[in-house]
Amino acid sequence: MLTNVNDGPEGVLRQFWTLIDQARSRDPDAALSSVGICVPGWYDSATGEIIGIPTLSGWEGFQLRKVVWEKFGLPVVVENDAIAAAYGEWHHGAGRGHDHLVYATVSTGLGGGVVVDGRLMHGRRGMGGEIGHFRIAPDGPRCSCGAIGCFEAIASGTALGRRAQVQAQRYPQSYLGRIGEKVDARHVVEGARAKDQICEALLEEEAGYLGIGFTGLIHLFSPDLVIMGGGVSQGFDLMSERIQSVISENAMSPFKLVPVVPAALGDSSGLIGIAALADATRR
Ligand SMILES: [Zn+2]
Repeated sequence: MLTNVNDGPEGVLRQFWTLIDQARSRDPDAALSSVGICVPGWYDSATGEIIGIPTLSGWEGFQLRKVVWEKFGLPVVVENDAIAAAYGEWHHGAGRGHDHLVYATVSTGLGGGVVVDGRLMHGRRGMGGEIGHFRIAPDGPRCSCGAIGCFEAIASGTALGRRAQVQAQRYPQSYLGRIGEKVDARHVVEGARAKDQICEALLEEEAGYLGIGFTGLIHLFSPDLVIMGGGVSQGFDLMSERIQSVISENAMSPFKLVPVVPAALGDSSGLIGIAALADATRR
């Protein structure tokens, strides 16, 4: 089901109720015990209020947790999607057994979640761990947030796709050039697997940017490991050596060997994370 973007919270909530009814009708004997919802935007975990969703209008100040609680009268957990994904990887994926980790999802944007001292980090207004928005290049491209040279503006899948489009135009007979205007990050990974040199160079460059950004995150949070998810992690195996070498070149000595590993739950880490969080509320 595609998200109803035009009718604000009411339209999306109608879709929620329909989906929940469909799921329950498939298994009428199953008891609903708690509800978990991921928000693709800023959610104030202290007040239960949505601060804003960049891709959806009309949600500012919406009391999502309260509205869902009033509908069902059951425990409700609402969480930012990347923070939920961090929880999923922590409890059921690549981060199991660790008390300190950073989860980074590198796709259209670059977001994440942080676990420190065995707890999900929320920070003021639930806004902690906006890992895509610190500047790593003073003259870099403009970011979706409006600033210049953010980690996201340089290392997201969108940024990689943009660099791929430049190469496709410059070399029309190349692997990327033959794909044409629709070239995106996925084609770079596919091309690199096919040993196309332009794609290999683009991924090498991407791995360098990721290594620089991850080095900053490692210094800030001292994680046991960094877990990388999102669409760009499809090419993780092709980039991991370079990412690790950039970290070891740039990090201070106690941090040089902090590993970056691929997410274990793929696209499902957010879903598994929010289900696990919802399950934890009823204990
Ligand atoms: Zn930014």
